[in-house]
Amino acid sequence: MIDLRSDTVTRPTAAMREAMARAEVGDDVYGEDPTAERLERLIAEITGKAAALFVPSGTMGNQIALLCHTQRGDEVIIGEGAHCAFYESGAGAAWSGVQFEIAGRGGLFGPDELQEVIKPPYDYHPRPRVVALENTHNRAGGRVFPQRDVRAIAEVARAHGLVMHLDGARLWNASVATGLSVAQLCEPFDTVSICFSKGLGAPVGSALCGDAETIVRARRFRKMLGGGMRQIGVLAAGALYALEHHRARLAEDHAAARAIAEAIREVPGASVPEVETNIVQVDLPVAAGELVAAARSRGVLVGASGARRVRVVTHLDLPAARVAEAAAALAAATREVLTRGATPA
Ligand SMILES: *Cc1c(COP(=O)(O)O)cnc(C)c1O
Repeated sequence: MIDLRSDTVTRPTAAMREAMARAEVGDDVYGEDPTAERLERLIAEITGKAAALFVPSGTMGNQIALLCHTQRGDEVIIGEGAHCAFYESGAGAAWSGVQFEIAGRGGLFGPDELQEVIKPPYDYHPRPRVVALENTHNRAGGRVFPQRDVRAIAEVARAHGLVMHLDGARLWNASVATGLSVAQLCEPFDTVSICFSKGLGAPVGSALCGDAETIVRARRFRKMLGGGMRQIGVLAAGALYALEHHRARLAEDHAAARAIAEAIREVPGASVPEVETNIVQVDLPVAAGELVAAARSRGVLVGASGARRVRVVTHLDLPAARVAEAAAALAAATREVLTRGATPA
């Protein structure tokens, strides 16, 4: 089976496992894990922030950021379908007690759309507090948030005293797609959550980056949520290995995604928006489950991301030599579900 449900399904390579096995470790809750410290210093440098904290998941990174920035009853402004509101089990409401306001439509938005939803300070309004952007945007089909818009949004946010948080689970992909450095992409933000276990292919982990004072508070919230872990050098070593060896190759994932999109686009009736990174979105006139099942029977696993929408994600474990095979199987499966039951002309 070729598994293209997500870029989280990758397994650590033999060389990565070796690096993990050799890692120097200590008790990180005592602040004594040298490999975790090395990773935190490096990721702070890469994102251009003063400090960083290794966290077990991107969800925890986002949620700790909300805990750091908000009080109960505050409002967090997001794009439609944001992971921190859509895929984190209601954690924003459960832990921070915040509510979400959506700016624009489709996930990405501009400064005017932000301005429109910022509520003026009255006692009867929730207090707008954070603008949380996602780059690349998962439910928008892996689209890159244009940096010009990010900067303009940050200006509006600052004028209203709002904090800027970036869910950069796939920021590595945005960097490769735009040619901008990760630090450049992070510059307009106060805090950034960035993932090692998506495209980079490490088995576990994300980092939350920001100023030193915020990260001291974040460390306490991590402990509070049960994310204080002990000899995490084995995990940090996987992330360090991924940073060194798996970043540049993300361009191959983007090329593979484009090849798959082109093959499916040839099937009349399937709508495939332009691919910007490693996510292919297929919009169908039939239930998504039909294509998921047809693809499975041809040896490719994909997922439904809407009633009539299928998501295909390319990654490290899709070898270049099998891209054409995956593309052909998905195109054939799409043709099969779209011609099924159709009256012959
Ligand atoms: C995967 C992902 C996360 C983090 O998910 P975890 O599974 O908790 O690591 C956060 N944001 C986005 C946009 C993601 O795609």
